[in-house]
Amino acid sequence: MADEPQRHRIRIECPECGNFQLEPAMVVSTQCRNCRAGVSVIDGKGVVRKTSAVRIAKSQSDAEPEPSTPPPAPLAPSSPKPTFLETLQRLLNPPAPPRELTCFACKHEFTASGNAQSSQCPKCCGYLSLLDHEINSLWERSIKTCGNVLICKNGIFNAASLTCHQLTLLGSIHCPVVCSGDLVIRTHAKINYPVRCRNLMVEKGSRVEFLGTVHAETANIRGTVRGQLTCTGQVTLEKRSQFHGLVRTTSLVVQSGANHFGTVEIISADTATPPTI
Ligand SMILES: [Zn+2]
Ligand SMILES: [Zn+2]
Repeated sequence: MADEPQRHRIRIECPECGNFQLEPAMVVSTQCRNCRAGVSVIDGKGVVRKTSAVRIAKSQSDAEPEPSTPPPAPLAPSSPKPTFLETLQRLLNPPAPPRELTCFACKHEFTASGNAQSSQCPKCCGYLSLLDHEINSLWERSIKTCGNVLICKNGIFNAASLTCHQLTLLGSIHCPVVCSGDLVIRTHAKINYPVRCRNLMVEKGSRVEFLGTVHAETANIRGTVRGQLTCTGQVTLEKRSQFHGLVRTTSLVVQSGANHFGTVEIISADTATPPTI
């Protein structure tokens, strides 16, 4: 009766953000308490709930009701005709070109549908989030996605790590960064942690101080940078840019009016190890 033993609970990992939470052993579906992602539970493992495909617009609940809008279509298991939502979504999100992905776990490269929000590595079955994130306030959860991340002017990324495809930084970041694509910096920033990216782009008027190492394939500097940069490809200091510190690269281009204060080490392309992304 009142002494019913506490129900057996299981630990579910959120497939979106990696947050762990306890759920009753019989749970089939839950919501991540950290990122609010819908999570289905299959064999004690969290997987992304497929039903939440309605990511097209903000909820209209507090906007004025639209009388002509039909109620959300129930989840027909296999309706041959596209639902209103599917049609709407197709109009708003035309099919994107397929995306090239690299598995975080085994580095296997494969192609996923351009509109997918998550994918699974065909080789190791590892889960990959494809979600984009826009951060415009304090953010304290790590992100691991093949999507893009925008840290807005008021965004403060203060978690353990950030792994994404393209990162655009207008705010601040306080953790190691790994980008499989471009890292675009458009702000004054001090980055205290190691950074790995494919292409480092520091935009005009930006001033960046890297206190950790920076590894990239290529770098285009249009602003002012202080730090230690290792590139397996070309580093370009564009017009009126400044670089203070060590540059290790296979080739350095200094355009007119650009300045490098520090050491250049030219490394051969064979010995240069590409950044592990
Ligand atoms: Zn989560
Ligand atoms: Zn894999």
